[in-house]
Amino acid sequence: MSSAQGRPTAIGESTKKHKVSFTGNRGLQMEEPLIFEGGRPEVSGVDLAEPEPFAMRLNGLERDTPMGLPGLSEPEAMRHYVRLSQKNYSIDAGLYPLGSCTMKHNPRLNEAMARLPGFADVHPLQPQQSVQGALELMQEVSHWLMALTGMSAVALSPKAGAHGEACGMMAIKAAIAARGEAQTRTVVLVPESAHGTNPATAALIGFTVRPVPAGPDGTVSAKTVAPLLGPEVAAIMLTNPNTCGLFESEIVEIAELVHQAGAYFYCDGANFNALVGKVRPGDLGIDAMHINLHKTFSTPHGGGGPGAGPVVLSQRLAAFAPVPFLRAQGESLQLVEDAQGTQAFGRMTAFHGQMGMFVRALSYILSHGVDGLKQACEDAVLNANYIKACLSDVMSLPFGQRPCLHEALFDDDWLKGSGITTLDFAKAMIDEGYHPMTVYFPLVVHGAMLIEPTESESLASLNLFIATLRELAFAAKNGEVERFTSAPHYAPRRRLDETGAARTPVLRWSPLQAQG
Ligand SMILES: *Cc1c(COP(=O)(O)O)cnc(C)c1O
Repeated sequence: MSSAQGRPTAIGESTKKHKVSFTGNRGLQMEEPLIFEGGRPEVSGVDLAEPEPFAMRLNGLERDTPMGLPGLSEPEAMRHYVRLSQKNYSIDAGLYPLGSCTMKHNPRLNEAMARLPGFADVHPLQPQQSVQGALELMQEVSHWLMALTGMSAVALSPKAGAHGEACGMMAIKAAIAARGEAQTRTVVLVPESAHGTNPATAALIGFTVRPVPAGPDGTVSAKTVAPLLGPEVAAIMLTNPNTCGLFESEIVEIAELVHQAGAYFYCDGANFNALVGKVRPGDLGIDAMHINLHKTFSTPHGGGGPGAGPVVLSQRLAAFAPVPFLRAQGESLQLVEDAQGTQAFGRMTAFHGQMGMFVRALSYILSHGVDGLKQACEDAVLNANYIKACLSDVMSLPFGQRPCLHEALFDDDWLKGSGITTLDFAKAMIDEGYHPMTVYFPLVVHGAMLIEPTESESLASLNLFIATLRELAFAAKNGEVERFTSAPHYAPRRRLDETGAARTPVLRWSPLQAQG
């Protein structure tokens, strides 16, 4: 294949530093060594007096060699971290089209609220009477989450979406055990298009996963689910809107079937941004759903945190919610920490959850109001459909022209025979200053490209993004293979050997290695 000829250089180059200038800097993008390479142990940013001689009390266990910590002067330390921060792509820098992630703008008001000393400086071991305001805020967040979802209870403590899934599924497990069916109901149905955390959660807490195939239109039908149900099924885990960006239109029928079979309905609510203010999941027959506060209700996230994944529960599961939970006692609020005498399945974490995320979420919710949340939801869906419509003549859509919800899914059919892959296309976007979209997920679509613009983007921003992708698509179709296969050309690093990095990661830095 002619396309293969342009390729080998891409990987080869990745191991060399690609020097474009004498310094290695690319204009204002500064090259920056590791702190261990740049620092000197004898340097310090502070001028402290030598301590008075004192008697060592470590009984001979004290260190007798230098620690080798890298020393930097204050301006050197400042430059080091500023330069590193400038290599980060962020929602504050540009459009962040990652699908299934909801990378929306985090209003600065949220940050101001989260930094109020009454929220930021309280300690989880403080007497509860001294943190009544913080507990009241948690109560208010709970109220909003239950009202927006139409559910009976909420567990605030899970620290992320996946943690919330575990919480909801543990409540389901406890409910099944309370019915005396722990030994018999051991199977969980999970659609093939699900986020990887769904089957992982089910397996982690001891269920057997039974896959549910998606139909040709990208959704799960009641007809497909029916024969998979039985007395051995504990629950279904369904995502709505699903990871193809589509509303599961048979969700009510599926919920009825699941309940008739004596099972529970877990909904992955990470994509709640596309429903909030429009649909209450409780009205659809859902028993448990996690909400990613860090997706639907802002909060800066990515790179592993921070997040918060509260779980809302239906009346059937409410009693099994984990401790701690809030209880009104006369004039004050009490955080109930002891599961004794309740049906709580246990606890998810030390303390009560992510206070800072609760504050940011409430700040976002209150400053929008119900009408504002609904508009944010509608704008997110409109933006995704606009992108979809404007690219549908140059890129291929696996599920036809049917409108999407908050994200637009393309496949790689349109790249067939070009010698360019989804990965190459994503890397070329970096050269244009865009973070790539989610690629190769969901797995049910070949070479998937999943684009979620969110409501944060203006029409001008969307138009530039669309024009960029159209220009790249034409270049791909015109045979400009090298532009893609060896991209990125302008980033601080060229194409990385991602397989090598995953298979043989180098996790320790040592001076010897650095010299070699
Ligand atoms: C983000 C996401 C999750 C996991 O949430 P985390 O907070 O990253 O653990 C689960 N399911 C779907 C559909 C998601 O988009």
